[in-house]
Amino acid sequence: MGRPLLNRRLDGLGTTIFAEMSALAATTGAINLGQGFPDTDGPEEIREAVVAALRDGHNQYPPGPGIPDLRHAIAEHRQRFYGHLDGRAYDPDTEVLVTTGATEAIAAALLALVEPGDEVVALEPYYDSYAACIAMAGGVRVGVPLRPPTFDLDIDALRAAITPRTRLLMLNTPHNPTGKVLTREELTAVAQLAVEHDLLVITDEVYEHLVFDGEHIPLATLPGMRERTVTISSAGKTFSFTGWKIGWVCATPELVAAVRTTKQFLTYVSGGPFQPAVARALRLPDSYYEGFAADMRAKRDVLVSGLEAAGLTVYRPQGTYFVTTDITPLGFDDGLDFCRKLPELCGVVAVPEKVFFDDTPESQKIGRPLVRFAFCKREVVLREAAERLATLH
Ligand SMILES: *Cc1c(COP(=O)(O)O)cnc(C)c1O
Repeated sequence: MGRPLLNRRLDGLGTTIFAEMSALAATTGAINLGQGFPDTDGPEEIREAVVAALRDGHNQYPPGPGIPDLRHAIAEHRQRFYGHLDGRAYDPDTEVLVTTGATEAIAAALLALVEPGDEVVALEPYYDSYAACIAMAGGVRVGVPLRPPTFDLDIDALRAAITPRTRLLMLNTPHNPTGKVLTREELTAVAQLAVEHDLLVITDEVYEHLVFDGEHIPLATLPGMRERTVTISSAGKTFSFTGWKIGWVCATPELVAAVRTTKQFLTYVSGGPFQPAVARALRLPDSYYEGFAADMRAKRDVLVSGLEAAGLTVYRPQGTYFVTTDITPLGFDDGLDFCRKLPELCGVVAVPEKVFFDDTPESQKIGRPLVRFAFCKREVVLREAAERLATLH
């Protein structure tokens, strides 16, 4: 009976760091800046739209690709924000697929497009579900590290990571956890490599509306990319309803059909009453999106100042919910060790980034002193956390 219970492809993927750190927050009563969810809900009128949808009987299976109104709203949203970049609309009937959050979109896309043994090149540190889903698909993960202080993309490293076995690039911009927003130059270089090596690309753009410095440019708008790119977004991050789990994919009809094939056997459909509400949310005026980014920028600034005052090295993020720090100035050298002690030391929970890096000496060296803090919290909470952290030195 020597065979382990857990499928060997999932070796090393026991429990996520978020479970461990959130449990620590619960038992110690510490302020949880570990997991990335807002502590206030999104727009009231959108919440009310869910209540209305429940009462109006949107309570059975929605159509497989998502309700038409939501698919239309997704296509309109892309035109409104990115139409000026490439002028090409997505067809709501064939080029849009609603998913159970971005998480299912990532899983369905990787399971659909990766064959056992295919290499998938991804930016390190990784969002944790990438490693798990690449493994479930039988793919081989190849990391390209983003390094502090700038986390700029090293194009030579990306080029060197591509081999004849590479099938797909997995991109994430704005990037969790570093807060890096890929520039047009970086994206152009990625696009050239993808075209040259005939690679598919999955691009996770869930933080598309949370850019504080610079501009979010969808990779699919670059020359040669529309036909090879699966773009993933999420209502959870854009409208502060992370528990609703409504995400979507935009891609060519062929790519959407491929992703739909796996998606239909993962969940089939989900979120009936949330879908009409998200359609309405996507049509909110520009002022909503501007206000949301401005609000989150202010929160970033509060936490960045607090962390600097506490003596950490702070890498100011250009986007997302997160700020990456280096704990070395506080006399620590291992982020995991630091995060396990932090609740007791000062009543704050954070997440060690080394768990988002490969288990190689080179990657671990970069990741070891890095710790991520979330700032998608009320300002009073961020200020209280900053005061507590200030007691560390
Ligand atoms: C939160 C997050 C997701 C998951 O989004 P859901 O819509 O909640 O499934 C995917 N990618 C990144 C980078 C994220 O931060």
